Amino acid sequence: MQGILETIEQIIGQSNILTGDACAARRSDWETHQPCHARAIICPTTTDQVAQIMRACHQHGQTIVPYGGLTNLVRGCVTTETNIALSFEKMNQIEAVDIVGHTMTVQAGVTLLNAQQRARQEGLFFPMDIGARDNCMVGGNVSTNAGGTKVIRHGMIRDSVLGLEVVLADGTVIDSMNYFLKNNSGFDLKQMFIGSEGVLGLITRIVFRLDVLPSSHNVALVACNDYEQVVKVLVNARQRLGNGLCGFEVMWDNFFHEVVKPLGKLSSPIAPEYPFYVIIETMGTQPVADNEAFESTLIEMMESQIVADGVVAKSDSERDAIWAIRHEVEWVVRDAFVFDVSLPIASANEYVQAITTRIAADIADARVAAFGHLGDNNIHVSVLTEDRSEARRELIERHIYEALRPYRGAISAEHGIGLEKRDWLQVSRTDAEIE
Ligand SMILES: Cc1cc2nc3c(=O)[nH]c(=O)nc-3n(C[C@H](O)[C@H](O)[C@H](O)COP(=O)(O)OP(=O)(O)OC[C@H]3O[C@@H](n4cnc5c(N)ncnc54)[C@H](O)[C@@H]3O)c2cc1C
Repeated sequence: MQGILETIEQIIGQSNILTGDACAARRSDWETHQPCHARAIICPTTTDQVAQIMRACHQHGQTIVPYGGLTNLVRGCVTTETNIALSFEKMNQIEAVDIVGHTMTVQAGVTLLNAQQRARQEGLFFPMDIGARDNCMVGGNVSTNAGGTKVIRHGMIRDSVLGLEVVLADGTVIDSMNYFLKNNSGFDLKQMFIGSEGVLGLITRIVFRLDVLPSSHNVALVACNDYEQVVKVLVNARQRLGNGLCGFEVMWDNFFHEVVKPLGKLSSPIAPEYPFYVIIETMGTQPVADNEAFESTLIEMMESQIVADGVVAKSDSERDAIWAIRHEVEWVVRDAFVFDVSLPIASANEYVQAITTRIAADIADARVAAFGHLGDNNIHVSVLTEDRSEARRELIERHIYEALRPYRGAISAEHGIGLEKRDWLQVSRTDAEIE
């Protein structure tokens, strides 16, 4: 019987298969940059090729791990020498943009940045945005139901998906390429695959819903003296700015101080001496009214003293400089144990204080840094410590996840489960759900 790699070679050609040194020269993920261990990395270009490959692998009992941009932070793309990695890197075509219907049809391997840029070129807006935009692929985004910095306004990527095409493990192609906002013609099958991290099928093509391109864009960085003020700022921003509010990012001082000078390399436009910093962002289509509403909201917050200090960006470069502080995460992602949890907004600081105390009691050199999309209930916690062993990971995981129980918190807000969080699923899911 012909081997599986020979069969795949007949389907996609030898130039689209990497084995041996060529495979090992690829990195296994964004975080560690370790070499890839896989039987092969294969790069189909069409849905039909994916379907033929899956059919053949099914018959051979060959395991497949889908590769997007490999930026997931939960060990979702781990492969061993027995797995074949199916990379979507050559399925990178933007097939169509419908400027009347506000849709974009793409193959799964288009990078998020390319999708955003193409929408903008057509005068439309692709609302999802995350720091890994240059590397991650929209298929990976949909497979993880990614969130990001605009969820408070636009929802998770699930809310931007109108249609999907999926190849099942046996090669069956499920064509759910819906283009309509309304389509109740039976089960909404796509919802099963969104966020399923490749376990239920391979996403090959996607129809995204696009938005109107905003013509106003305001960003401010404010500082607060305590967490109660942070919550008041959120409540005020929601009430005063309504649907224009599209970003609300909080940085605890243990994150902020490491990023800005003198400890970090970036410049802070306000004094780096406060316990909390918040980025507030709005987008809209009425520049004069939007700018006025934004400025007057901030002035009111200053006058009512729920904000201790603050600055409004006056140019694109000032906006970028403020966001750069929040996106300067490499040090807390690459060199740390990284967590991504959801819990009630009012309890987030109590939780951060609790885990900091518990971890400090067990690990003398531990530094905890907290930041995240507070308006979406989601905070990221990074724990930095010299010892990166698995035993150390388990100890820290226990503190992070057990402390979520009183709040019925979520062990994964937006990054997914991967292999990393599988054993902790019972913190957030009932036995019946898991069964
Ligand atoms: C700097 C940085 C910032 C980040 N910020 C955010 C953030 O704000 N919000 C957020 O949600 N995430 C964030 N992430 C995590 C990550 O970027 C997202 O999870 C992203 O959606 C993963 O996309 P990817 O293409 O890299 O997928 P990969 O990492 O390649 O894959 C993710 C999972 O999906 C599977 N998969 C990939 N492609 C397909 C496909 N076509 N069909 C079926 N299964 C597939 C993989 O097997 C894996 O299980 C961040 C990561 C980094 C490094």
